[in-house]
Amino acid sequence: MDLSLSDEQQAVRAAVREWVAAVVTPDAMRNDREERFPQEALDGLRQTGFVGMSIGQQYGGGGADPLTYCLFIEELGRGDANVRSIMSVHLGLVAGSIQRWGTEAQKDDWLPRMATGQVLGCFGLTEPDHGSNPAALRATAEARPGGGWRLNGRKVFITNGSIAGVALVMARTGGPGAKGISAFLVPTDRSGFTANPIHGKLGLRSCDTAELVLDDVEVGPDALLGQEGEGLKVALSALDDGRMSIAASCAGVGQAALEAMIGYAGSREQFGKAIAGHQLVQQMIADSAVDVDASRLLTWAVADLKARGERYSLAASKAKLFATEASVRVANACIQVHGGYGYVEDYPAAKYLRDARVTTLYEGTSQIQQLLIGRALTGVSAF
Ligand SMILES: Cc1cc2nc3c(=O)[nH]c(=O)nc-3n(C[C@H](O)[C@H](O)[C@H](O)COP(=O)(O)OP(=O)(O)OC[C@H]3O[C@@H](n4cnc5c(N)ncnc54)[C@H](O)[C@@H]3O)c2cc1C
Repeated sequence: MDLSLSDEQQAVRAAVREWVAAVVTPDAMRNDREERFPQEALDGLRQTGFVGMSIGQQYGGGGADPLTYCLFIEELGRGDANVRSIMSVHLGLVAGSIQRWGTEAQKDDWLPRMATGQVLGCFGLTEPDHGSNPAALRATAEARPGGGWRLNGRKVFITNGSIAGVALVMARTGGPGAKGISAFLVPTDRSGFTANPIHGKLGLRSCDTAELVLDDVEVGPDALLGQEGEGLKVALSALDDGRMSIAASCAGVGQAALEAMIGYAGSREQFGKAIAGHQLVQQMIADSAVDVDASRLLTWAVADLKARGERYSLAASKAKLFATEASVRVANACIQVHGGYGYVEDYPAAKYLRDARVTTLYEGTSQIQQLLIGRALTGVSAF
């Protein structure tokens, strides 16, 4: 197995890294403190064309292969997990689903606008009473007599919910269970569609998270993504990509935290020498470095399987489980190395921990990943 990056992959990573350092990182802490949306970063993603990174070139996107996409996401995560989350949902969950499941007409309709960032996507699966078990979701899509669908229901914790132009919404079209669910591409300007922003999050404080209310939202027959009854399949396949993306981001957050702790440990002196010279501080740095490398390698393994057309759900769960828990460990070690200074907002350590923390919760909690991995290995479902 060759782990070297192609010239093109290196060039994309270098370009994104340079842009993130210039545009994203400088505002990240202020945006976090003020719960301020990173508008300049989003504008920049549009101007540079990064906003369409993994969308097919025939639709005006960058056509990035899975590993290049992961490098892009890692660099964004390293700069600001808020900006990264906007892109993971837009590209990984929504544009990716349209590319995989859409008709030619749906692709022609949405992807060119998503490639320029004129339209952003959000992904509406979670409901107030159904998070880890989406097969029980209750939002409904009723067939209208003249054709098309009428949607009703509530979705919560939806990233990009108030800024998206298209919402990929999973709703019930048939009986109970997974096979009664279908997926819809809902234009968010439809009458009856409301997004209520959610404030007061522990982390990811500057990106948009919203509750979606669908109150008799009418869409045409062309809104159905995939076949009727395939909605959970659409959602779960999107989450495979989402989990790869979150793992990549966690490698980025971990890398940033690692660099911060190395930098601080080299300059802070206690007992007459830099704290980097104390063995127990080096232990925290060494363990963190291993966590970051392992996160990255597990992520690259997912990207490799995907690029070769192999199944990657299990690998994506493993990468997500490890990298998310590792990023929390590394960010926590970053605070520890900074001592009391890690606990205040003058340094980024606390933000890294708060931003990392949500990753063990969304797109399948760590417990759900353990159950998925356990089921794949034993053949027995423990859900
Ligand atoms: C900032 C943020 C952004 C989000 N963005 C989106 C988004 O864009 N789109 C979207 O659809 N959703 C989004 N979510 C929702 C997220 O995916 C859910 O919060 C997550 O799936 C968990 O669901 P829940 O919160 O209802 O927790 P619950 O499902 O109620 O779980 C609570 C606890 O019980 C555990 N648990 C549940 N079932 C089992 C079981 N069978 N075995 C063992 N343990 C179990 C869980 O692991 C967890 O520890 C977001 C959430 C947050 C916080």
